[in-house]
Parts: sequence; C-alpha cells; structure tokens
Amino acid sequence: RRVSDDQMRMLIVGSPGSGKGTQSTRLLKHYDFSVLSAGDVLRSHIQRKTDIGQRADAVIKQGGLMPDQVMMDLIGAEVKTLGAADWLLDGFPRTLGQAQMLDEMLDAQKKPLRLVVNLDVPEDVILDRILQRWTHLPSGRVYNLSYNPPKVEGKDDVTGEPLSKREDDNVETFGKRLKSFHAQTEPMLEHYRQKSGSVIDIDCRTQTSPDASTTSSQDLFVNLRGDTSNQIWPHLVAIVQSRFPALKSASSS
Ligand code: ATP
Ligand code: MG
Repeated sequence: RRVSDDQMRMLIVGSPGSGKGTQSTRLLKHYDFSVLSAGDVLRSHIQRKTDIGQRADAVIKQGGLMPDQVMMDLIGAEVKTLGAADWLLDGFPRTLGQAQMLDEMLDAQKKPLRLVVNLDVPEDVILDRILQRWTHLPSGRVYNLSYNPPKVEGKDDVTGEPLSKREDDNVETFGKRLKSFHAQTEPMLEHYRQKSGSVIDIDCRTQTSPDASTTSSQDLFVNLRGDTSNQIWPHLVAIVQSRFPALKSASSS
C-alpha cells in the first residue's frame, strides 16, 4: 500500500488539434502510465461496428458531441479498471457535465484529479495542423507532414500499416468542432480554473527554460500557451516530472 498519494491522475485538455494526442504519446515514450483517449475509444467502436460505434460515426462526421452519460459510462468504467495505476485522460471530460460526473466518481473513491493541463494554442495555427495531419487509426498515432512526418511516407512507424485522414479533419467539420470547443469545453476549463488553488499560466513562446518549481503540489490547473508542440513539450515534461516524481520510466523496447 502506498503511504502517500503519488498516483498520476491527470487530464490533458485543449482545442481540437491542440496536440493532446501528440503530447500524450511523447510522454508515453518517457514514462510508464495509461492513456485513455476518448476519441480513440470512439474510433475503435466505429471500427468494430458496435452500437456505440454506429452512433459515434454519425456524431463525429457532423462535428458534434456524444451524450455526456454515454461518455461517462465508457471512460468511467475504464478508469475504474485502472485502479491505483497511473493514468492520463485525453479528450474526456470535454463538457462541464462530464467534468462533474467524473469529479463525483473520483471524489467518491477519494482519488481526486491531481493535474489538469490546458494546451492553449492559437486558432490560426491549428487549422493548418489539422489539414496536414495523418493518423494511424488503430493506435491513434498522429503524424504531421511538415514537422512530424512518418519515417516511411504514408506508413505508421510502429506497425508499417497505412495512414489515413480522419473523416472529421476537414475545414467544414473542423469549424464545428471548434464551435463546440468554445461552447462546451471552455465552461469546463473555467470550472477547473476555479477549483484550482492558483492558476499557473506559462507562455511557452517566451519562456525557454522551463521552471517546474513554478507549480506546487497544490495546483490543479496549468495553462501552457504555445504555437508548436516543441515549445510546449519541455514545460509539460518538467511539470509532469515534478508533480509525479514516482512515475516509472518507460521500459525501453
Ligand atoms: P484532436 O484529436 O485533434 O485533439 P478532437 O479533440 O476534436 O481533436 P477527438 O478527441 O479525437 O478529437 O474526438 C473526435 C470526436 O469524437 C469529437 O469531435 C466528438 O464528436 C467525439 N468525442 C470525443 N470525445 C468526446 C467526449 N468526451 N464527449 C463527447 N464527444 C466526444
Ligand atoms: Mg485527439
């Protein structure tokens, strides 16, 4: 039994295309923990043609959102099975309603969230990214033709399988996803900002040497503002390291 609570229980939040999946994958190369990505879970249901998958297919093509309760049932069950293992959630919660449901479940287990990182990326940067993005759908690994290309053109680095475009990565659907981010996810960010003892706001564009000591163990909400994944990355890794010092290194493969 752990004497002190050193479990990683963390959210990565940000607008569509802000780099949540990219940063989570990079963290996984360094540390041993579980990532649950709501979008990947839904896409896997779509591929397996489950009931939820059929529903999600229609919603995602429209740039809409799945109902809060459906998402809570899906992700909440997975979080429970992880028990005391370290975890990070990407893409859930994304509405105030989902956040309240998750908070309630975690509070009942006496395992409240310990860190919420918001990736704050300017809008003009992200559309460009979305259009250049290629995805390995089975794993959720993402590539960008200009700054993070696959080793072999059109192929996933790990499996060699073909990459594809997500159906919702086009100008029109992206506009809708962005609207729902403003309408639904920003109120959720406000909720976590207010829960937080103090809000740590780091401009990754101007601050080159990350100072992890700017966050104390009490701080829940950290805002990282930057244009590129490379600007945000050193700050993110420093914060994760300082907040969860007991995290194990990824087993080298
Ligand atoms: P990105 O992957 O670029 O960060 P995103 O956050 O819009 O973009 P995903 O997280 O992959 O994309 O989600 C894709 C779609 O799946 C969403 O547009 C939405 O329709 C649905 N979805 C994902 N997570 C949720 C959620 N927590 N609640 C409701 N719908 C969701
Ligand atoms: Mg994603």
